Amino acid sequence: MSAPVRSIAVVGAGVAGLATALACARAGHRVQVFEQVPAFAPVGAGIQLGPNATRVLHDLGLESAVRAVAAFPAELQVRSGTDARLLGVLPLGEQAQTRYGAPYATLARADLHHMLLTALEAQAQVSLHLDCPIDAAQQDSSAVQFSTADGMVRRVECMAGADGLWSKLRSQVLHDTPPSATGHIAYRALLPQADLPEELRSAVVTAWLGPNFHAVTYPVRGGAWLNAVVVVHGAGEGESDNWSQPATPEALAAGMHGAAPVLRDLVQAMGGWQSWTLFDRPALRGAAQMGAARIALVGDAAHPMRPYLAQGAGMALEDSWCLARQLSRPGLSAPQAIQAYAEARWKRNARVQKRAVRNGLWFHSSGARAGVRDLGMRVLGARALDLPWLYGHRA
Ligand SMILES: Cc1cc2nc3c(=O)[nH]c(=O)nc-3n(C[C@H](O)[C@H](O)[C@H](O)COP(=O)(O)OP(=O)(O)OC[C@H]3O[C@@H](n4cnc5c(N)ncnc54)[C@H](O)[C@@H]3O)c2cc1C
Repeated sequence: MSAPVRSIAVVGAGVAGLATALACARAGHRVQVFEQVPAFAPVGAGIQLGPNATRVLHDLGLESAVRAVAAFPAELQVRSGTDARLLGVLPLGEQAQTRYGAPYATLARADLHHMLLTALEAQAQVSLHLDCPIDAAQQDSSAVQFSTADGMVRRVECMAGADGLWSKLRSQVLHDTPPSATGHIAYRALLPQADLPEELRSAVVTAWLGPNFHAVTYPVRGGAWLNAVVVVHGAGEGESDNWSQPATPEALAAGMHGAAPVLRDLVQAMGGWQSWTLFDRPALRGAAQMGAARIALVGDAAHPMRPYLAQGAGMALEDSWCLARQLSRPGLSAPQAIQAYAEARWKRNARVQKRAVRNGLWFHSSGARAGVRDLGMRVLGARALDLPWLYGHRA
């Protein structure tokens, strides 16, 4: 039995949408991508991708594109956010490559997005429609039908909802409530390392853990730029949206009580900070939350998660690969393939969502609980930080 050729609509052209479209196009399907923004702007700052995620990029034929724009830090250092003491080290670099067969990479999100977009544009059987929001779709026993802003009605065999945290397709398919604010705010900045004093430049991933805050710094763009993200407790602004807003170093420093001088210096030196109010949803409870019949949900639309395991984009990449594989299986109808995708993905996504919440609690702890955390890292060493179930996974 030969592999089917399907017509697929992908709604949203973030990391999840572009990766899904690319994986489906490379499998021979006809793909239409609909994105609401009229032009892509650099959104977000840096992104860490574990070997589980870079493996998907390699499978998508992007190994050399990743090499051209990523950094491959030699290690993750965990430090106290109050006195900069080294608490634990996880070797990355060659060791991650050898252990997991794919690298641990750090990239600017804009570079990852551009890489996926360039690869997608080279695929003949893909059409990309910008300035084209899709807010609703109907499905029957043979197709998914939806209208575009120009009044055209389109029918496709199936649809991937990759429309992010505030997914309209999700609310239509699952009839659930919007995501909720976590009570945390993320501040992010990206700067050429050459613009920083030498003592603040870095070639490794560093996680700084403090009471009610943490910071992560890592190199991107072959090491030429430094990405910093600081997460603090607070209500934030823009409760109904996830777009970032400019933030002053002073606003950010106010949430970092007791931060080590080196962190305060970093906050002042970086500049260009943007803030995101962080939202999430409870962990997935079943396959039915990853789609219904001919509409699959991928990425943040299906499982928005806290960034404390650095895996939101990673899970989006795994989803995309898995969905394309299931849709390409001979003998499966589109609803059967989407059901198989949902069954294959929901438990892993739920596990990562839960682990991310737990990490946040440990990262931001203080007093005796922080003591237990620090002792655990001292005793267990790299074993406390390595996650074979996460990094060794093949989507
Ligand atoms: C502070 C922070 C740090 C992070 N760090 C990491 C990290 O280190 N590693 C990692 O893997 N992940 C990280 N993440 C998570 C990661 O950024 C997200 O999980 C990932 O980008 C989600 O991609 P997506 O394509 O699902 O959603 P989005 O990037 O939100 O894309 C959705 C797209 O759909 C479009 N859209 C929305 N509605 C419609 C519509 N009706 N019609 C058409 N188009 C529509 C939007 O315009 C957008 O382009 C981090 C997140 C945050 C907030």
